[in-house]
Amino acid sequence: TTRIERHHYDVVVIGAGGAGLRAAIEARLAGKRTAIISKSLFGKAHTVMAEGGAAAAMGNVNSKDNWMVHFRDTMRGGKFLNNFRMAELHAKEAPERIWELETYGALFDRTKDGRISQRNFGGHEYPRLAHVGDRTGLELIRTLQQKIVSLQQEDFAETGSYDSKIKVFAETTITELLLDGDAVAGAFGYYRENGEFLLLEAPAVVLATGGVGRSYKVTSNSWEYTGDGHALALRAGATLINMEFLQFHPTGMVWPPSVKGILVTESVRGDGGVLRNSDGKRFMFNYVPDVFRKQYAETEEEADRWYTDPDNNRRPPELLPRDEVARAINSEVKEGRGTPAGGVYLDVSTRMPAETIIKRLPSMHHQFKELADVDITKEPMEVGPTCHYVMGGVEVDPDSAAAFGTVTGLFAAGEVSGGMHGSNRLGGNSLSDLLVFGKRAGEHASSYVDALAKRPKVATADVEAALDVALAPLNRQSGENPYTLQQDLQAVMGDLVGIIRRAGELTDALKRLQELKARVANVGATGGRRYNPGWHLALDLRNMMVVSECTAKAALEREESRGGHTREDFPAMSPDWRRVNLVCSLEKSGDVHLEHKPVPTMRGELISLFERTELSKYLTDDELTSFDALAE
Ligand code: FAD
Repeated sequence: TTRIERHHYDVVVIGAGGAGLRAAIEARLAGKRTAIISKSLFGKAHTVMAEGGAAAAMGNVNSKDNWMVHFRDTMRGGKFLNNFRMAELHAKEAPERIWELETYGALFDRTKDGRISQRNFGGHEYPRLAHVGDRTGLELIRTLQQKIVSLQQEDFAETGSYDSKIKVFAETTITELLLDGDAVAGAFGYYRENGEFLLLEAPAVVLATGGVGRSYKVTSNSWEYTGDGHALALRAGATLINMEFLQFHPTGMVWPPSVKGILVTESVRGDGGVLRNSDGKRFMFNYVPDVFRKQYAETEEEADRWYTDPDNNRRPPELLPRDEVARAINSEVKEGRGTPAGGVYLDVSTRMPAETIIKRLPSMHHQFKELADVDITKEPMEVGPTCHYVMGGVEVDPDSAAAFGTVTGLFAAGEVSGGMHGSNRLGGNSLSDLLVFGKRAGEHASSYVDALAKRPKVATADVEAALDVALAPLNRQSGENPYTLQQDLQAVMGDLVGIIRRAGELTDALKRLQELKARVANVGATGGRRYNPGWHLALDLRNMMVVSECTAKAALEREESRGGHTREDFPAMSPDWRRVNLVCSLEKSGDVHLEHKPVPTMRGELISLFERTELSKYLTDDELTSFDALAE
């Protein structure tokens, strides 16, 4: 028999990015024995890579900002498909979560009068992103880790063990959740380094596993983002919503090929960088959609004046929400006005002095010098769209972060959860999302545990089944090669379920995904259990497959274009489709089941934050009539 290490906790948090760490802190503060699991090294998560900042309406740089404006921007950015309650909680609670970080030891950049400085970003009406140069995520993770260490020191003083109340399992991958009936009972996984297995028995699990980008070849995401949390949730009986909405960030590196997809932060545009095509033209002025026409400058002169006088000028179109900018770049390249490497130019060199660039964008300066031998103080960058963020995710209760579906004791926060960002996320709204809903998930997971009459039990048969699944690729040494399978999957998703989608291609994608699924069922890994990346990928593929199937199915079903979902055959937004969430669940057979569910209706006082003319661009006539009544 294979040895399995056993542990007992109250709350197991899967993922050690911002959402996971903030949830773990809250659970520990609520007195719960808490485990934090991280697939990579502790501290290495997407959160650490976040550059631009965290959006919070503190009103430090422009006092007109407040939660209502932030809420409005978030709903607009998501094209009104957002779960309004999540957007409301997020806008209201983000400032408190940022200030709280400073009490944990973070230090954000300052305004002249000593307040937390805030920078401009796409879709945000006022400067709103609290930042630390272009290394905000690093400060966030550093601070949360420091808080955890300080809690562990308190625990040591009290119990003689640092790990007595909060323990970190780094380089450990969870492959399965275990249930007792419908209640979460534990999590099963392996240590990456030695391939040993572990079972964490716990009545509550918080999923904070981040995104799914590795199903695409050109992506800003790193290796661990294979949709594990999404798949774990589905297999446990939870539901995913709106998986068709993927954010293709407009500016990834396009050259050299080895670094294609690596992110170029939106701060470059927020701080004054402009996009030009191969004719040298600032093309974004041609791509302002009607719904945004009133808020964006029509001339370069007005756009440039905005940086110093935002009250009397409109914003540059380079700062439209990401979906708009990504589609515009895609069109320019397709129409033959791209750069030699197939992107467009992003220029700061002619826009500000070299010292300013180096001070405001140190990581970008370094990144281009090191990876592409380009000095961004002297020449433009070449950029193009890259798969960046998944708006869809685990369907959750907005207040408690508890997963919907049949399962209890499962919570989700951060990128793995869905709803908050609607069809398109605004930059900076993820770091704040992690803090707001990470805290809520930790708090509610703890009160769930407190309310349990008895602890769910892990069944031996379920542990054995999880073990069999984990060992299967090693028992098929001559099975399909996992790397080939991942490349084939990436080709299907990139070519047929990419930025611009069509019914025929999506149907083809679904067919190919079925074929791939059969091959993945036969995936093999050579070698043994000691540090074996081929085996790890073989296990991740199962997750990537089911998540990709959700994305392709929902993309075929949604016959409109909205945010991170563009259908060439249905190019307009449809007010009828705005009322629909597409919800995925898993059938016993392993097939994905798709359902329509109504988008919750905004409360009256929130509706009245918008002008009727704006609402009329998004809502059906029926809705407008009933909203008129609500708003009164
Ligand atoms: P992550 O930080 O992604 O962490 C996920 C954790 O889960 C990791 O610890 C991982 O190891 C673990 N994990 C995954 N699967 C498993 C498993 N099976 N078992 C155990 N552990 C697992 N957003 C902003 O708001 N502002 C920005 O400026 C910004 N810049 C960005 C720049 C880059 C380059 C990227 C890639 C993203 C950026 N984003 C930004 C988006 C933002 O960083 C992410 O959406 C966010 O950090 C996600 O946080 P999270 O806590 O949900 O998950």
